[in-house]
Amino acid sequence: MDIHLDTLLKLPNATVESCVQQDHEAYLKLRLLNEDASCPQCEQLSSELHQNRPILLRDLSIFGQATYLKVPRRQFYCHNCQCYFTESLSFMNEGRQYTRRYEEHIYQQVQLSSMEQVSRVERLSFDRIQGIFKYQYAQKKLPGGQELNGLGLMKSANGKGTKTLSQLSETLRLEN
Ligand SMILES: [Zn+2]
Repeated sequence: MDIHLDTLLKLPNATVESCVQQDHEAYLKLRLLNEDASCPQCEQLSSELHQNRPILLRDLSIFGQATYLKVPRRQFYCHNCQCYFTESLSFMNEGRQYTRRYEEHIYQQVQLSSMEQVSRVERLSFDRIQGIFKYQYAQKKLPGGQELNGLGLMKSANGKGTKTLSQLSETLRLEN
């Protein structure tokens, strides 16, 4: 749609087709520029589009407005494997309702303030914020059960007396 908007969007192979504003929220409809996708099993490229079921992903806010992306979810057919596969997108994890960068942002914001505060600012329920935080926490855990950066950050936050984070890391420890 607009080259400047695409530049700001900063997502590979994606262009903004339209932009709608509604109740202090912005909805950006994306179009993917790549015509084929590689099969996760044999890695061969397929351009045989089977179906497209767009999804809505929450992304980082634009100019203080909660922002959602309408992203095509395309299914292709692989002749080699004789099966259908869903295109993998580098900016989202399978099955999530948020972009990776948004989840990363929430994870960092929670560590700087609290889940309650982030929930208010982002106008997302506490449960959703907690869900994102836990998901990110699990993602950051390195294979082999090694501890991650996040815990270190949480510990230093505890040191500063952030009660919520202290309770949270306790909860996470218990659950893992
Ligand atoms: Zn294949």
